[in-house]
Amino acid sequence: MRVSVFGSTGSIGESTFDLLSRSAHHVVALTGGRNVSRLAEQAKLLNAELAVTAYEACLPELRAALEGTGIEATGGTQALIEAANRPVDWVMSAIIGAAGLAPGFAALAQGATLALANKESLVTAGPLLLAEARRHNARILPVDSEHSAVFQALQGEDIAAVERVIITASGGAFRDWPTEKLATATVSQASSHPNWDMGQRITIDSASMFNKAMEVIETREFFGVDPDQIEVLVHPESMVHALVGFRDGALMAHLGAPDMRHAIGYALNWPERAALPVARLDLARLGALHFTAPDPARYPALRLAYEVMEIGGTAGAAFNAAKEIALDGFIAGAIGFLDMATVVEDVLTEMSARQGLGNIAVSLDNIAHTDTEARSLAAHRIAAGRI
Ligand code: NAD
Ligand code: MG
Repeated sequence: MRVSVFGSTGSIGESTFDLLSRSAHHVVALTGGRNVSRLAEQAKLLNAELAVTAYEACLPELRAALEGTGIEATGGTQALIEAANRPVDWVMSAIIGAAGLAPGFAALAQGATLALANKESLVTAGPLLLAEARRHNARILPVDSEHSAVFQALQGEDIAAVERVIITASGGAFRDWPTEKLATATVSQASSHPNWDMGQRITIDSASMFNKAMEVIETREFFGVDPDQIEVLVHPESMVHALVGFRDGALMAHLGAPDMRHAIGYALNWPERAALPVARLDLARLGALHFTAPDPARYPALRLAYEVMEIGGTAGAAFNAAKEIALDGFIAGAIGFLDMATVVEDVLTEMSARQGLGNIAVSLDNIAHTDTEARSLAAHRIAAGRI
């Protein structure tokens, strides 16, 4: 296949790189941000046609690193879109944040299979993305471990027979902390995950459960199930990634080692299962798996996910944008760990009251507008200390 990877220098990108370096696929484009030397190294190792940095200012450095290799170098937002328009069969969407939307749409528009890691695409623009896939007869394959697990449990099944979908959460860095102590959590404490090795932002989102909140919304969008059919279970071992409950009472669980190369490899090889270099579970050695219901007081982000689904319209875009700004604020030391949820909730409340978020039609323009508005409201609250 001809493949491209958007966000190839990130955590998902590196796992994708690892699988591609063991494969015979032809690599068209690889994209990254400021980590130009790694991007150039990846492009050389995979013999890519093109390397793109998202930042024009980094382009001279990328050009220099690739001089004499025959690999093209480009930079900037428009260059990313142009890269996404190059003919391919399969695209990994692993840019983090709302910036990851455009390459996904471009990939679908050319009929490529979209391996979707970027959560923001479904949370902010789910109905649009699915419609784009239908329009071009293109396929979206989920790469988040939970959604890949649900997708796998659904192979050969009728979605109408599904009663509930359960996605698991490790509970993040603070799952054993007393709730009262959470307000004092520091950035470095929130940046270490007990089971998964991921980028810093998603690791902090795991500690706050904003990550799971996004995944609940993704589940609704991708599989078309109702919010009340989606459950979250805290499962500290991160071995069971999701379970699908059917109307006959059967519960199909997907288990695997916490290694994103599984979900990425499944999307790369689908509908076949190819051998993957991931650890095999030794359940006898593990002995026991644990599950508990999440404490709503401890994880307000989860409650907000259900509110976002209830509101509808562009609430997902407001939720994601406010969350990104709140996360920036936490990382910068401007607000505390628990303040992130407060900022997001306040922005949702204010925008729903003022603009009736639920009545705004989901279009790319309206999503961008809601995104901008939510970012500015969140930033304003943080700057003014109104939390
Ligand atoms: P990361 O921060 O490690 O990497 C992000 C990549 O995107 C890098 O290549 C970076 O250069 C690029 N990038 C960042 N900002 C950009 C911008 N404005 N424009 C263009 N490129 C930009 O992130 P990650 O942990 O690999 O996550 C990527 C996506 O996958 C996220 O949406 C995340 O929620 C999702 N995801 C990640 C994991 C995981 O295990 N890390 C699991 C499931 C889903
Ligand atoms: Mg996940």
